[in-house]
Amino acid sequence: MATQFLFFAFLAVTFSVALASDPSSLQDFCVADATSSGILVNGRVCKDPKLVEANEFFFSGLHLAGNTSNAVGSRVTPIGVAQIGGLNALGITAARIDFAPWGLNPPHTHPRATEILTVLEVGHVHFQQNVGNGNAVALVALSSQNPGVITIANAVFGSNPDIPADILAKAFQVDTNAIYSLQSKF
Ligand code: MN
Repeated sequence: MATQFLFFAFLAVTFSVALASDPSSLQDFCVADATSSGILVNGRVCKDPKLVEANEFFFSGLHLAGNTSNAVGSRVTPIGVAQIGGLNALGITAARIDFAPWGLNPPHTHPRATEILTVLEVGHVHFQQNVGNGNAVALVALSSQNPGVITIANAVFGSNPDIPADILAKAFQVDTNAIYSLQSKF
């Protein structure tokens, strides 16, 4: 019992808090200046607040379905600082994901963000796969201006230079030819 207590006390002392979100902004807004090539700190250069216009806090088109005619049957439409300059330094990105029937947003991670996903149409989306027979739409929010995305299959089988096929064959416990076949698709 005392040993367990000491072990947990050790963990409590040695693990620091993990932060997976952008630092808080110190100004009310910092609209991204698309024309500036100035110094970047953490985000984009702020436009002169006197020159900011209302439409820089606006995005139209979230109601439009994305084209899902592709190998995975889904389309991500990002709504971030590139689409809404007023999001700069506010630490958030949104996206619309359209799914064809059985469409999939392939397994991926966001190194700099936590993601929350709301299914808006057809409630049959599991792990970002639409298992229903109709189209589905989801709205995503990510806790970073630049969440990053690492799609597992692309990173493993489409890296440049290649990860050697014999290593992947051993890691995935398959024949080397299966790896060559997968690598040829990415
Ligand atoms: Mn995601």
